[in-house]
Amino acid sequence: MTTPAAAAPLATVLARIRDAERRHGRAPGSVGLLAVSKQQPPEAIAALAASGQRAFGENYLQEALPKVARLEGLGLSWHFIGRIQSNKTRDIAAHFTWVHTLDRLKIAERLDAQRPPGLPPLECLVEVNVSGEASKGGIDPAALPELLACCRELPRLRLRGLMALPAPEDDFARQRAGFRRVREALAALGDPTLDTLSMGTSGDFEAAIAEGATIVRIGTALFGARPRAEG
Ligand SMILES: *Cc1c(COP(=O)(O)O)cnc(C)c1O
Repeated sequence: MTTPAAAAPLATVLARIRDAERRHGRAPGSVGLLAVSKQQPPEAIAALAASGQRAFGENYLQEALPKVARLEGLGLSWHFIGRIQSNKTRDIAAHFTWVHTLDRLKIAERLDAQRPPGLPPLECLVEVNVSGEASKGGIDPAALPELLACCRELPRLRLRGLMALPAPEDDFARQRAGFRRVREALAALGDPTLDTLSMGTSGDFEAAIAEGATIVRIGTALFGARPRAEG
């Protein structure tokens, strides 16, 4: 059911995305919205879907699987954006369209081997760490060429680009500087088939769009504050 409670924030976020595209010389419609639905109940996801949103991002497999099953038939596409443990790859390969957080060959090989034959190749992004924070996921941009070369041998994965979650900054120029490093890491690869940059969250997506994001990942600005602290 379309409820004003779901439709209003979605319209606001979409208007801000289109406005940022215009202001920063991006082609209209070149930035896609991934609604990050971690810790949100299926009803909240269904409400956004009724307003036209199709792509949803989940971080935790256990939490995501029942929601994916419950909302089957709505034509949603599910993106896995959390850390990937190797014992979770089979379900990720079977139930998700995209993975944003590839960061090692072992995981890539498992996803490739486990992608069900009836489904198209899994759309994959490699997560890069441009903040140098040891606690954060993602690989050093210097390690990208080797990982990408190995992943290109895997026929059931389709490499699309990079994802990043730079350290939060309040200042627009500092936000841009983090995203610029991601854009430069992609450009350095010199591969036109890598057409996707997943970067920008509720607090900094306009800066990410200024630096070339093609997918922004937004939770709080769509659903409100999450019910509990992140695990
Ligand atoms: C939670 C999360 C987001 C969304 O963050 P908000 O601040 O709620 O918009 C985006 N990307 C990743 C990887 C996340 O874990």
